[in-house]
This record gives sequence, C-alpha cells and structure tokens, in this order.
Amino acid sequence: MIGVLVQSHEREIAREFFELFKTPWEFYRRGQRYDVLLSTGEEWDSEAAKLVLLYRGKRLPFDARKNVPVRPGAEGAMFSYQARPLPLYGAVAAFPAGQLALVKDDARNESLTFLSRCEGGVTVRIGYDLFEEVRLLLTVGQPPANAGTPALELHIDLLRELITRSGIPLLEIPPVPDGYEFIACLTHDLDHPALRNHCCDHTMFGFLYRATIGSLSEVCRGRKPLGALARNLGAAAKLPFVYLGIAKDPWASFDRYLEIEAGLGSTYFVIPMKGYPGRSSNGSVPGSRASGYSVDDIKPQLEKIIAAGCEVALHGIDAWLDSDRGGEEREELARSVAAANGGVRMHWLFFDEKSPEILDRGGFSYDSTVGYNETVGYRAGTMQAYRPPGAASLMELPLLVMDTALFYPDRRNLSNARGEQVVWRILDDAARFGGAVTVNWHDRSIAPERLWEDFYLNLLRELKTRGAWFPTASQAVSWFGKRRSAAFGAVSWEDGVVKFNVSANPNPGTPGLRVRVHKPRAEDHFATTSVNSSAGFVDVGFDGNLTTSITVSKTHGTNN
Ligand SMILES: [Zn+2]
Repeated sequence: MIGVLVQSHEREIAREFFELFKTPWEFYRRGQRYDVLLSTGEEWDSEAAKLVLLYRGKRLPFDARKNVPVRPGAEGAMFSYQARPLPLYGAVAAFPAGQLALVKDDARNESLTFLSRCEGGVTVRIGYDLFEEVRLLLTVGQPPANAGTPALELHIDLLRELITRSGIPLLEIPPVPDGYEFIACLTHDLDHPALRNHCCDHTMFGFLYRATIGSLSEVCRGRKPLGALARNLGAAAKLPFVYLGIAKDPWASFDRYLEIEAGLGSTYFVIPMKGYPGRSSNGSVPGSRASGYSVDDIKPQLEKIIAAGCEVALHGIDAWLDSDRGGEEREELARSVAAANGGVRMHWLFFDEKSPEILDRGGFSYDSTVGYNETVGYRAGTMQAYRPPGAASLMELPLLVMDTALFYPDRRNLSNARGEQVVWRILDDAARFGGAVTVNWHDRSIAPERLWEDFYLNLLRELKTRGAWFPTASQAVSWFGKRRSAAFGAVSWEDGVVKFNVSANPNPGTPGLRVRVHKPRAEDHFATTSVNSSAGFVDVGFDGNLTTSITVSKTHGTNN
C-alpha cells in the first residue's frame, strides 16, 4: 500500500494519476504504517514507511538536514529515462549523478533521482513535481516536438521501478484487457463522404491538382507507384460524369471500410450540419471548415454502419467552446441517427483547456480530440483514457495516429516506409505500457487521390498480429471505466505467497481485467545498474470479483 502525502490542491490530480497507475494506495493518514510513502514535500512521521519517495522540483528542508546536494535547474528541461528522452515542463532540482541516477542528463552529469539512506530507512529524492507534470500533460499537453514521448507512462514507470527495486512487492491492474496485448480504436472522421458535394469549390480544384500534377510529382519522388498515377488520372477524367450522376463517386468509401474492417469495431465521427464553419474563441474561422454534407445526406450509409456493429458519434463544430451548441449538435445528429452515442471528436481538432468542462456540461460521455494535427504521438503523454481535470464524467480517449499528419507535405510528409517506423514505435509502446492506440483514417483517405489504403491495411494486419482488441470508442471508454471501478480489498504477503481481494463493476461485452503481481526481491536492488531491474511478474485475469492467493517465491535478479 502506498500512502500519498500531498498538498490539498494536488489531491484531485493525484486521484487521477492513481486511476492511471492502478495500485493499492490511500491519502496518508498520520500514525499509519505504509510500504511506500509518496510525499510532495510535506513532512511525515519518521516511522511511516520502509521506502519514502520525496518528489519536489525545488530545495526542501529535508535536503539541508540530510546534506542532499541540490542544484536548482531550469524549467522545461530534457532528461533521459531508460534511454528515452523525458521532458520535464515545470521546475526541477537536479543532483550530481551518483548511485541511482535513473533520470539523468549525461552531458551535465546530473540526475533527478538521489538515494539517501538514513536512520535505517531509504528515501529517494526525486527532483520534480510529479503531480504538476501530470496536470500539465492532462490539460495543456506536450508540444509537437515531444510527441514521441509517452511522458505520463514514463512517470508511472519510474515510480513502479523505484518500488520494485526497493524489494517491496507491488500489485497493479495494468491498462491491458484480459486476453489481449492492448487496445486498438479505429476511427474515421467523415469530412468528405462524397466528391459530388463539391462542385467548382476549393475541394474539387484541390482534388484535380493533387490527382494530376501532385500525383505525377509523387511518382517521380518514388512516393507512389506508377499505377497510382493511372488510377488518379482516371478518377480525375471521370469527374464530369460523377457530377452528372452516371459514374461512381470516387470518395464513396463506406462499403470498402466495412469490407476491410469486417469483424472489428470502428467509430465514425459525423458532422451534423452543412455549410457552417463554426466559431473560434478569437474570431472567425476559414470558410473551408464548413461541411459539404449534412447527416441526412448519408443516413442510409450510417444505418448500414450501425447494423455492422460499428458506432456513430458527433464530429463537432462548436461543441468545444459552447455547451449549449454542443447539445444542439448532438441532438441534430441523433434526430437523423437515433443510435448515435454521446461521443465527440471536434472537426479540425479545435480544442482548448476549457473544452473538457464545456463538453462535460454539454452532456458528452467521451471526447477523442486530444492529439495533433501536425504529427502523431502522445499529446497527453499517455494512450490511456483519462478524466481531464474539470470534467465530472467526461472521459478523454486521446488520438494518437492520424493519416494526414503522417503524409501531408506540410505535416510529417513521410514515405510509407518511414510512416511504418513511426507508427510501429507507438505499437511497441502499446505492448509495453498498455492503453489504446486510437487511429483516425479519414473517409476519403483510401480513395483517389490520396490512395492511403495499402498503409492502412498493413496497419490493421500489424495490430491484429500484435494481439490488439478492436472495440468501438465507447466500448473502449467503457472498458477503462470498468478498470477505474476496480478496488483492492485486503492484501497480504507472507513467505512468498500473496493473498488479495479485488472487485470491479461487471461490464458484460467487454474483456476482463488482470491483476499484475510484481514479484518481490530478496533485498533492495538500488545499486543495480541494469536498465530493467524487474524480477518479473505474474498476471491473473478476473471479471467482477476475485479473492485468491498466488505463490510468487522471492527471486534474485533473474528475469522470468
Ligand atoms: Zn474533420
């Protein structure tokens, strides 16, 4: 059990942090004994815990008492943790790199972790403000330059690493559905379901340019095969017949998505009204943000999608800055498609720090906007669904991978091969940390002139091979809700046997949870230099209630 000793303004964000690192914990009670005490600077009883983790990005009275050599650092510092960059956005207090330099700056020979053994106990001084970092990640988010770092997961991993190195046993419920390796959420923003809707506007001229001159240039640069140019030229030549209604619309891709995603959950975000670009917090919005279709135009296709077990949710216009408008947009969608659920993703990913609260008041159950237009990765530093500060019940399912961010010339401008490297790295993180890889492949992206279907098919194959569960967005959020409801009862460790009870709200139709039992070590391994000092773990699946005992004999450094 971890006792958590924080200042009152840190309590809410600490609670959310321990929904993401789901392990037995409670707010510190004076007089109580804990395995681990996590303090952000408040003083504790000297007998309170075997291991004290003291987080703070500035000099503390503790440092003076124990002669901890603190070097105040700058804000916005970059350190490394387990050979990965770890950006810290708030104040840091660095120490000369010595024993236990887990978070370090090699060039300056500094570390953010410092081991202090005194009075028969161990205190690890950690020179940053954990919960302020978490708050920043879950509100402002990371700049695009740091998108590749799952910073929040690394903060969790450091805490886990410090506990397991100390020889203290640890239980947790990882963000991994039982029977799978991680979650994959396939989503499609419906921005342009038909080229027919765009006669002589910027969208049509853009299509003609990219299908002809743009494609030729891509073939010359080796970005597309010759066959793609032929297909795009053919689609451009047929355009007059599309407007006359005698040729198939090249952007009509609903049936193809249903075919290639057969048997998988998928979520379609639909704009309810035509011709309205929306508002922004500081004035006007480009007219090109207005939709060329309304929900009624694609009603039969949406009914087919729902019949196939997929999900329809709102692609919002003004919902992110006005809760009344959000309610109206949702009702407009539900008027046409009764089965549309309470989820939302904003068109063009319009969002600001107040949006979670506004969407929450607007009655939405989940949002999936937090991501980047210009790159792929972890804006919130995590791929877990979380409750943003300020929201009472809204969950955020962060968006990780978007087609246009990968391939647009003014965004990452990646080739297919480079795109795979970038996305597969995210899949590696998913296998390591758990969570949901949420992907947005736009409606017209598998059609001429983009022709990004081959990449998408490879991605689906890779996700399946790596053992992903494919729920719709609301099913994924519901699974995370089941995990949030889980609570540990009594836990005891004796002679290499752990006994525990855990229960969670049953949630039929979603996979179960699992308890991960990290094997304890015979003694502390703070001196070890190995990158991953884990003694291994055992996973036990459960759904509902579980009382069990497991033999996890103490190990001496073997990985099994
Ligand atoms: Zn959109």
